[in-house]
Amino acid sequence: KGSKGPRLITLMPGDGIGPEISMAVLEVLDAMKAPLIFEPVDVTPVMNSNGQTTIPDAVIESMNRTKVGLKGPLMTPVGTGFRSLNLTLRQLFNLYANIRPCKSLPGVETVYGDVDVVTIRENTEGEYSGLEHTLVNGVVQSIKLITRSASMRVAEYCFKYAIEMKRKQITAVHEINSMRMSDGLFIRCMRDTAKKYEKEMTAAGVKYEEVTLKTVCLKIVEDPKRFDVLILPNLYGDIISDTCAGLIGGLGLTPSGNIGTSGAIFESVHGTAPDIAGKDLANPTALLLSTVMLLHYVDLPTYADAIEKAIVKTVKDDNVRTIDLGGNAKCSEYTQALIKNLK
Ligand code: NAD
Repeated sequence: KGSKGPRLITLMPGDGIGPEISMAVLEVLDAMKAPLIFEPVDVTPVMNSNGQTTIPDAVIESMNRTKVGLKGPLMTPVGTGFRSLNLTLRQLFNLYANIRPCKSLPGVETVYGDVDVVTIRENTEGEYSGLEHTLVNGVVQSIKLITRSASMRVAEYCFKYAIEMKRKQITAVHEINSMRMSDGLFIRCMRDTAKKYEKEMTAAGVKYEEVTLKTVCLKIVEDPKRFDVLILPNLYGDIISDTCAGLIGGLGLTPSGNIGTSGAIFESVHGTAPDIAGKDLANPTALLLSTVMLLHYVDLPTYADAIEKAIVKTVKDDNVRTIDLGGNAKCSEYTQALIKNLK
């Protein structure tokens, strides 16, 4: 690989601990001589002609060119007139699927031990369509929008992902008994896609099933190993993906990918951690694991595997951990220890 020359990536370091953990990622990639060139852009909001906050043109221009972004957390200013920058990015780049692999990190003690669940969430519609209004005083209506096109494209991504990543099972999550039409359509799209990929799934050993949301909630805390890949409409996915992050020891270890129609953005799930920002105390693991996802996306799996192995060695074998994992290593010390473990 690499015959096409290094791959350009847009880097949005973000706010709070964002710059510190981004620096850690750059140092690790540099030590491996990964064929990636990062183009840093500043996502500090600007005001557009309608008086709304939006992201600077340089970010849009860079992303349109590179098609792949790595992003640190962004602070969402509190107050009226501010739209969430994450939402702006999602809409601008049509990021229709959110992928979160939640895998236990050997050496990090959790209640459940060996968890390995991936949630794939429809990211553009459902209960988060933003269609809410007051009907009459004291009565509001919120619209849950489900379309065949959005459900099919997330299904397409999910089934291909499961086959390619050699997963065991896809569980489509629904509440068809109460949401007959909307969840009904979502599930029909999942079934159609399962049929379309029947041969490939059989060859790869991937099974398909449908389970209600309440059953998933019950079973996933009884035995997370019961599930493998979960595909969900927006709201259910939002909740279950955070639940899964909790199963492996919190948001500090959880990466995510936002897949769009013409590119993708990878980011850690946690926020800007203002309480520890600028103190060299942050854990860069979630952003490093987001980079692992990015490396798979741009077809550089050897580099991805090397980072993953080095993380396990550093945390489990060397017991070098940041404070959030019960250790006393600074972000920079952890990063240097990890670099020594890269092979
Ligand atoms: P947070 O995730 O920033 O922090 C919650 C707690 O977890 C804090 O105690 C923090 O120190 C700790 N923590 C988080 N990441 C850590 C890491 N990598 N290493 C060690 N400890 C870590 O959540 P919050 O305080 O609710 O949010 C703070 C800001 O982040 C808000 O402005 C919010 O809007 C923003 N935010 C952004 C994103 C994003 O850009 N994707 C996501 C969530 C929150």
